[in-house]
Amino acid sequence: MYEIESFMADLQRRNPAQEEFIQAVREVVESVIDVVNDNPQYIGNRILERITEPDRVISFKVEWEDDEGQIQVNKGYRVQFNNALGPYKGGLRFHSSVTLGSLKFLGFEQTFKNSLTSLPMGGGKGGSDFSPRGRSDAEILRFCRSFMTELCKYIGPDTDVPAGDIGVGGREIGYLYGQYKRIKGENTGVLTGKGLGWGGSLVRPEATGFGTMYFANEMLSHVGDSMAGKRIAVSGFGNVAWGAVMKATELGAKVVTISGPDGYIIDEEGVSTPEKHAFMLQLRASNNDVVKPYADRFKCQFVPGRKPWEVPVDMAFPCAIQNELGLEDAKTLVSNGCKYVVETSNMGVCADAASYLIEHEVPLAPGKAANAGGVAVSGLEMSQNAQHLYWTSAEVDSRLRHIMSQIHAACVKEGTGDDGYINYVKGANIAGFRKVADAMCQQGY
Ligand code: GLU
Repeated sequence: MYEIESFMADLQRRNPAQEEFIQAVREVVESVIDVVNDNPQYIGNRILERITEPDRVISFKVEWEDDEGQIQVNKGYRVQFNNALGPYKGGLRFHSSVTLGSLKFLGFEQTFKNSLTSLPMGGGKGGSDFSPRGRSDAEILRFCRSFMTELCKYIGPDTDVPAGDIGVGGREIGYLYGQYKRIKGENTGVLTGKGLGWGGSLVRPEATGFGTMYFANEMLSHVGDSMAGKRIAVSGFGNVAWGAVMKATELGAKVVTISGPDGYIIDEEGVSTPEKHAFMLQLRASNNDVVKPYADRFKCQFVPGRKPWEVPVDMAFPCAIQNELGLEDAKTLVSNGCKYVVETSNMGVCADAASYLIEHEVPLAPGKAANAGGVAVSGLEMSQNAQHLYWTSAEVDSRLRHIMSQIHAACVKEGTGDDGYINYVKGANIAGFRKVADAMCQQGY
């Protein structure tokens, strides 16, 4: 029998100074402990110890030359967390906050997220502490080449398939893919999020944001409500936020905030026109990592140095980075009448904030369920590449919608309590965990 605190104390001892990883594991272990203790096979297979240890951690040096001719050195990583369900799959993050601990948390989360999609994908994550902020296009190209020169030794279409994440979008995937191809001489589906003319899938750029809105729509329709007329706060302004605001608009909701490290904007008319959506892409491409230019351009309010959770809304969608919505933010949201929190960034809600929302019976969708649309369409890109075919955008979109609705149904099945409150965090963790744990038992140690 497992006991949570002694298991966690041992995990902490083995993974010192990796707080985000410990936080992610605790959330899953708290959700699945009864399922594990009720199953002698899981206990006999020491499933919790094995599922919380990455298969492999690859760490390497990335040397590159900046525009002044100076040599720069960054850290590069790939965490191959678990391949029980398929090749390692998960994004690359280029951001100053990247550490081995943050990539372990992300690889761990990815394992269960990918399981929830029902596609044959294991979990992995990688990246670098390189920050694209303020860097020129040429510097980003040189960094990507150097990063892939090392990473290419460890990845392949049937072993490990990276993709984008924070700081890695279509441009970076292009540079990375170019270098892989130069070294290996192969055109394969080794990365997803590729350009449309060379193996990429329609709807992949939009997929995370679209998927999160499909998931939110399922949450509402489950209780006879709809997205139409909902007032929404979104954080971030990158690829995920961009897809989310476009789909929210299409579903009749109004997004009134987006944010950056510099603060947030309030747009009472809604971030709702194609021009505004295109401007978000320009902000991302500028490498400046600020949202204020949106307020200057569209003549709306900019609130410097603050987060958007103080704006009264019906629904909140953290779309930026882990632990971006804290306990005080959760309290403010609830007292302002917010009815739903849909975590779109990975672990966007701090642990104490999540507990507060659940105690107050605010439905809280965890990132591993709500943001699974991105990796799901990556999985569909892999299928298309394996068949040497392209699907239409209607085909990809309808599969995405179906996957998000299946994930929602799995959360409801595993997470509905006796009082009818749906604990989406628990539901997603149990549903994601079972498949990985069963596969590990069946495949032996
Ligand atoms: N980085 C995204 C995630 O967190 C997508 C990963 C992928 O497409 O492999 O799920």
